[in-house]
Amino acid sequence: DIVRVDLSERSYDIVIGPGAIKQAGARIAPLIGRRPVIIVTDDTVAPLHLPSLEAALESAGVRRNGPAIILPAGEKTKSFAHLEALLDEMLGRGIERSTVLIALGGGVVGDLVGFAAAISLRGLDFIQIPTTLLAQVDSSVGGKTGINTRQGKNLVGSFHQPRLVLADTSALATLPRRHVLAGYAEVVKYGLIDDLDFFEWLEQHGTAVCAGDTEALVRAVTVSCAAKAAIVGQDERESGRRALLNFGHTFGHALEAAVGYDNRLLHGEAVALGMGMAFDLSARLGLCTGQEAIRVRRHFEAIGLPTKLGQVEGVEWDTVELLGHMAKDKKVQDGKITFVLARGIGRAFTARDIDSAEVAAVLDAAV
Ligand code: NAD
Ligand code: ZN
Repeated sequence: DIVRVDLSERSYDIVIGPGAIKQAGARIAPLIGRRPVIIVTDDTVAPLHLPSLEAALESAGVRRNGPAIILPAGEKTKSFAHLEALLDEMLGRGIERSTVLIALGGGVVGDLVGFAAAISLRGLDFIQIPTTLLAQVDSSVGGKTGINTRQGKNLVGSFHQPRLVLADTSALATLPRRHVLAGYAEVVKYGLIDDLDFFEWLEQHGTAVCAGDTEALVRAVTVSCAAKAAIVGQDERESGRRALLNFGHTFGHALEAAVGYDNRLLHGEAVALGMGMAFDLSARLGLCTGQEAIRVRRHFEAIGLPTKLGQVEGVEWDTVELLGHMAKDKKVQDGKITFVLARGIGRAFTARDIDSAEVAAVLDAAV
């Protein structure tokens, strides 16, 4: 399947399906011709998927500038230190404006390589080959790139759209189940935002998606990418509608910050918990019924995602601390937090001026 991201001269295709890496040469060669590429990946993905990408590029006659650059796997790689090392390596190879970077990996590699492409020689073309479900349905699409700093996540970065995204659903076969489920939370997000039919389809087929059933997985990734592409096409720089994509994220980011961004709580797990809380808040405010919050949680439970903070092991939760993290969120404007609320499943909207006592009550009930 192909989803087009429509951004006038910055438009690009997302190619979705099993075997997309094996066919990468046939997609990439016509796009870039004789321009040299540098592949960047991480040391978990490299042994699993780099050989087939290299073989595909080789057989299509794509020119390479040096061997793949292999970074350590993990969130810590999205740092100034690793960005600098990557830029040094690229510049040391004598890159030119025509050089094309290829990011092969999850959201960490995609965000870092996208940012390196954005700032090297004032902008290189880059191609995303996402290998996690989260990266295929979310981070590889839309052009947000960046790194973390001591002060917080994703605080330094830029908008830089890829020239092509290749989402190879068969590459997810090697992804640990916990990461599959975490990425699945973002799939559900698209249903909850504005597509009740998709949510109902997921209630029927979510288990098959997470088990790696090809047809179900391709459909889930395609619908998700189409949803994100539509929103990004309307609002590339998040002045309006794109904020809906933060559904569950105001709560979720606070949970991640409280844990300290380690393995106890993956981003998608935090988002699943946060989407449950966003429905709780919506129900408290009389926007939707408590039944809908229950229905959302029931689906996460059926899939195996956490629905209660108590399921996160080794963390003491504190309402005041969580409220403090929410107040520091990147999306705060004039001291006010923007919440994404819902009038029901598939009917999300953004709201400000939410009574913090109501937010505190939702957190109290969850802690
Ligand atoms: P990740 O890149 O760390 O990948 C998770 C783990 O899976 C890593 O250890 C990785 O090496 C491994 N892995 C990747 N593909 C694999 C495969 N096919 N088989 C086996 N192992 C594999 O994390 P992620 O969850 O993909 O992405 C999280 C990052 O994405 C965060 O930094 C987040 O801020 C960012 N993000 C960005 C956007 C955006 O719009 N740019 C959106 C959402 C999230
Ligand atoms: Zn997210």
